[in-house]
Amino acid sequence: MNFLRMENLGLEGQRVMIREDLNVPISDGHVTSDVRIKAALPTIRLALEKGAAVLLLSHLGRPVEGEPDAQFSLQPVASRLSQLLDQEVRLETDWLNGVDLMPGEIVLCENVRFNPGEKKNDPALARRMAALCDIFVMDAFATAHRAQASTEGVVRAAAVACAGPLLSRELDALQQSLHDPVRPLLAIVGGSKVSTKLTVLDSLLGRVDELIVGGGIANTFIAAAGHNIGESLYEPDLIQEAQRLIQQTHVKGGSIPIPKDVVVARSFSADATSQVRHVADVRDDEMILDIGPLTAVDYAKIIAGAGTLIWNGPVGVFEFPRFSAGTRAVAEAIERSAAFSIAGGGDTLAAIDQFGVAEGIGYISTGGGAFLEFVEGKVLPAVAALEDVAAASR
Ligand code: ADP
Ligand code: MG
Repeated sequence: MNFLRMENLGLEGQRVMIREDLNVPISDGHVTSDVRIKAALPTIRLALEKGAAVLLLSHLGRPVEGEPDAQFSLQPVASRLSQLLDQEVRLETDWLNGVDLMPGEIVLCENVRFNPGEKKNDPALARRMAALCDIFVMDAFATAHRAQASTEGVVRAAAVACAGPLLSRELDALQQSLHDPVRPLLAIVGGSKVSTKLTVLDSLLGRVDELIVGGGIANTFIAAAGHNIGESLYEPDLIQEAQRLIQQTHVKGGSIPIPKDVVVARSFSADATSQVRHVADVRDDEMILDIGPLTAVDYAKIIAGAGTLIWNGPVGVFEFPRFSAGTRAVAEAIERSAAFSIAGGGDTLAAIDQFGVAEGIGYISTGGGAFLEFVEGKVLPAVAALEDVAAASR
């Protein structure tokens, strides 16, 4: 991908505006998880080391535009940043009208979503942002799929716009695993619904050597293969789509494996009695909540043979301990595998955390929606803008 990279630019004495994703959970005025803030620290430190004056941008929550609301203020983020950097981080509320700032200093601009025109990518708003800096750095992968004033518009309006290290690292990892993978390329797509991942499945089928489906998604495929799935979560309207995908894979000489055995229960609850059944033996009053132990072994073997691996979506209701063994087995097989692995998705990240396998995963994507859109093969608007301005400046 051809865009300018912050690492390669001289920033001495420059006003550098960095768009981060500092949208963290806050309770009683305190940040309750600072993972995203910590992820942004290396970029901020690098800009300071290079002699820049740093302006930070982020959104927080979903406030109504034009109605600044204390509940969505970035003040708690400024305080936490200041602690982590051991340096004052000033929160500026009226920043669009100009910010006093010296090299070595950091200002966090109040929630970009307070500004009318942010969401609809108002060019006039984007120009006002761009006017505040010499160099704009887009570093928020998780918002790169949204064309908004602080993500896309400002890139086009800025004198110089580049990708920050966090964004470029994420794009490089995704690009490599999808477009230049060590083969075989295996994708594991689980989660609750086929409908939310149909385009992902479609686009992956064109590129992967092997596809494993799991969770509620697998239920629809099990039904498509002609088995009774009882009361399982599935989507009857999508059985035909599933059959089409199975067909398409057959034509290519591959297959989408259906679980051999499954874990079932008679209610969707943590304390429901669990039972392992052959996939052909599920009863009318049962629901499939996990893959069975034989299937877990099969999948672990497939995972062990992969050269590159993309994982999105748990293969069972991992939030309930009795139905978490399948997702744990998959997670641990990925951890053990020598393949370059990339994982993304809100619940997938929660599972990775729960099973403590983060160390064994090549790259954990921070952007849920943006990750899925990239995997779908869509162009991320903010990235397209970075590429366009780089091409125009050549
Ligand atoms: P991600 O956020 O990683 O993209 P999804 O949101 O698509 O993943 O799906 C995660 C949810 O799917 C989890 O809450 C999990 O409990 C649920 N799930 C997985 N397997 C099943 C199943 N067999 N039946 C019902 N829900 C399931
Ligand atoms: Mg989810």
